Amino acid sequence: MPLCFDLDGTLGHFSSGFVLLREALGELWGTAPTAEELGRCAGSTDWEIVDELHRMRFGTGLDETGYAAYEAACVDRFRAAFVPGGREAVAYAGILDALHRLAEGHRVWLVSGNAPGLLAFKAGVLGIDPAIPRLGSLPRHDRTDLLRHALRGCPGPHLYVGDRPHDLAAAQAAGLPFLGVGEAVPGDHPSLPTDTEPERVIQSVAALLR
Ligand SMILES: [Mg+2]
Repeated sequence: MPLCFDLDGTLGHFSSGFVLLREALGELWGTAPTAEELGRCAGSTDWEIVDELHRMRFGTGLDETGYAAYEAACVDRFRAAFVPGGREAVAYAGILDALHRLAEGHRVWLVSGNAPGLLAFKAGVLGIDPAIPRLGSLPRHDRTDLLRHALRGCPGPHLYVGDRPHDLAAAQAAGLPFLGVGEAVPGDHPSLPTDTEPERVIQSVAALLR
């Protein structure tokens, strides 16, 4: 029974993440993509976004080598920024607690648009149990593909917990019930504030699985 959780905005957040993404690409490509170029990207995963930016810059799609270089440069920037005395990640303690309690009785996955190395770093900073599988953004996969990958071979029911319209759209495309976190994902699905107590998160998940 995989319960899939997005990371950024769902379990906590890392400020200025898109600035670091642009800076990492600037280091690799000579000049950083602009915020306007980033805003034109339609994808929600790192592979999709960097691929779109690569097409804008070079007229060709990203390849695996270029993606690996982006991932390494981006992880380096996050490691340098999120240090004691530097930037601080914000953890949603109640939702993280619920995630760990749910993992005691269910299969729980992190399914995130971050490149795998970046997801591993962020999950570590948030103190997420290493036994919980992390599935980050893979080449030529969109978020729906990632969800389907996580669900493969696992009996239902399944669930996706996310904070943005692209999370809801991916859940719907993969045929999963959806639980929203925060206020950035409008719709008639159940939704919880970021400071929800763990008991209420677990109740909300249980109600969706019934
Ligand atoms: Mg998110």
